[in-house]
Amino acid sequence: MTKEIVHIMNNISSWLRYQKQLGVEIIPKGPELSAFLNHCVKDETSLQGLTATREYGDEIPITTGLDELRKMIENCNRCELHKSRQNIVFGEGPEDARLVLVGEAPGREEDIQGRPFVGPSGELLTDMLNAVNISRKDVFITSVIKCRPPHNRTPGHEEIAACSSFLSHQLRLIDPPFILALGLVAAQTLLKEKAPLKSLRGRFHQLGNARVMVIYHPAYLLRSKGSWQRELKRVAWHDLQILEKEYAKYR
Ligand code: SF4
Repeated sequence: MTKEIVHIMNNISSWLRYQKQLGVEIIPKGPELSAFLNHCVKDETSLQGLTATREYGDEIPITTGLDELRKMIENCNRCELHKSRQNIVFGEGPEDARLVLVGEAPGREEDIQGRPFVGPSGELLTDMLNAVNISRKDVFITSVIKCRPPHNRTPGHEEIAACSSFLSHQLRLIDPPFILALGLVAAQTLLKEKAPLKSLRGRFHQLGNARVMVIYHPAYLLRSKGSWQRELKRVAWHDLQILEKEYAKYR
């Protein structure tokens, strides 16, 4: 069976599971289903790379390993963020991780320590992973951009475009079956989508060989208050459980 057919079947399977979650029990043959199948076939043209940003990843030779890539990033001055960073945050975790977590950008603590998710949102992330029996030491954690934006602002489009080849290459080397996109920036960058997070979460998206789950960013959960925060945490818990159920088969 070719990779293309596997991909189409995974897409159909993922879509059918999502429909089932919505309570749909019968799928009539109609224009929506035809459009979906056409979409799957059309998507094959972008399947060779793991991410939607592979045009940037192509700048980096496939023979470049993770250590060499880290050195490239340490010397990177492609965007203005190199001027204010204390450390790059390359990411950390096993090189053969079956699950890669992709955040948005380093924050203050991450910039100081040069490690991903070490601030308060990192603590929450670790707790969330533990709650679904995923050990942080088993996953690779990185982010869309590798240097901290001043005042933790959202990275700009040009910064993301300048940096995305590094993420693309990391994903290509690790080649995980699962990716967890943390927050809107990671989700929209990986999936090349403009849709809001609420419409991207709660189901798998196929990206090359990987299935991508999208959840709310832990920092957003921390910033939220009261019943809204409880609702967001409930939703994140729900989404992580969907991921864990499939991920457990690969452990
Ligand atoms: S954010 Fe990325 S592109 Fe910009 S300087 Fe840092 S490593 Fe280079």
